Amino acid sequence: MRHIDYHMHTAFSGDSEASPREHIKMAIKKGLDEICFTDHRDFDYPIDAFELDTEAYFKELSKLKEEYQSQITVKIGVEIGLDCDHYDEINDFIKSSPYDFVIGSIHVIRHTEFYYGDFFKNKSKEEAHREFFEETLRCVKTFDCFDVLGHLDYIERYGPYEDRSIDYDQYTDTIDEILKTLIRKGKGIEVNTSGYKLRKTCGFPRFDIIKRYKELGGEIITVGTDAHTSDRVGEHVDDVIRHYEELGFQDVSTFTKRVKD
Ligand SMILES: [Zn+2]
Ligand SMILES: [Zn+2]
Repeated sequence: MRHIDYHMHTAFSGDSEASPREHIKMAIKKGLDEICFTDHRDFDYPIDAFELDTEAYFKELSKLKEEYQSQITVKIGVEIGLDCDHYDEINDFIKSSPYDFVIGSIHVIRHTEFYYGDFFKNKSKEEAHREFFEETLRCVKTFDCFDVLGHLDYIERYGPYEDRSIDYDQYTDTIDEILKTLIRKGKGIEVNTSGYKLRKTCGFPRFDIIKRYKELGGEIITVGTDAHTSDRVGEHVDDVIRHYEELGFQDVSTFTKRVKD
């Protein structure tokens, strides 16, 4: 199975200062076969500006892609914040540039976000988690302009609760519906290795969700570190690949201009 890192941020994202060249160099050092840059674009992030200077982004990354083409395959993608309140802007944005690959992620729900915690105000953990999964389902049903769903279940990282762990039994139906919708639409799912910090043995989502995705007929999987600094590029990719192999997947998916290679 190929080793890829299909989720990484650079100084083109509002929350990173990383150099794309350093990411590429680290990816080569780690022996990755292919990487995809996926800087942020969110239309309603209440605190940081997640805008993307697409012209400069494509210009710089295209140059680097060519410069390093004999050593590693580099793709140019984006992580779009899926948000039903900004349907047209999001679709227009994705259509306006020739992205190789699009991660759809839920970062904001009704103008509130998770990192700084507004989303959790006046909600029990169960209420917050239910709303998160239900909104994720609404987004995957509503949007088509993405290729894989980003970091499903990373809500566990946030919230003012002593025990943030997700009681999966309560949301089995909703998560199943999310996975079935992805499969029906020909969309994939990523394992985001930033989850290893919290969970030690798996990323976001945990592997039994990936197992379920496969049982239901899903075939499109990617792996990404969500690196915001170059030292994290390629981190835990080998662990995820090993799990994918154990689950019986033949290979990860890679994309060119939004079409599976
Ligand atoms: Zn994200
Ligand atoms: Zn990200």
